[in-house]
Amino acid sequence: MDAPTTSVCTHLDQIRPVSPTSNGCEECLATGSWWIHLRMCLTCGHVGCCDQSPNKHATKHFHATSHPLMRSLEPGEDWGWCFVDEVWLEPDEFAGAT
Ligand SMILES: [Zn+2]
Ligand SMILES: [Zn+2]
Ligand SMILES: [Zn+2]
Repeated sequence: MDAPTTSVCTHLDQIRPVSPTSNGCEECLATGSWWIHLRMCLTCGHVGCCDQSPNKHATKHFHATSHPLMRSLEPGEDWGWCFVDEVWLEPDEFAGAT
């Protein structure tokens, strides 16, 4: 077997056909804070804010739950990200989640 030069996500089996569970970052809505971009957990549908936001709830969700995969919820953005492998996901890799 050839050794891959880039890492490949090994967590695609944790993707569930989830829908966003809120209209904005759940924790920011609860605390009256704000965000820049929204990310959705591909395992449970949790909506959190990105690392450019002051509270970084998407990353905190990963640390709290070990759910490794998220996708962008921004209009026109269809990429995903694995926090563990630190690789980008193509849209067809999480097509079951919308
Ligand atoms: Zn992964
Ligand atoms: Zn937030
Ligand atoms: Zn989750």
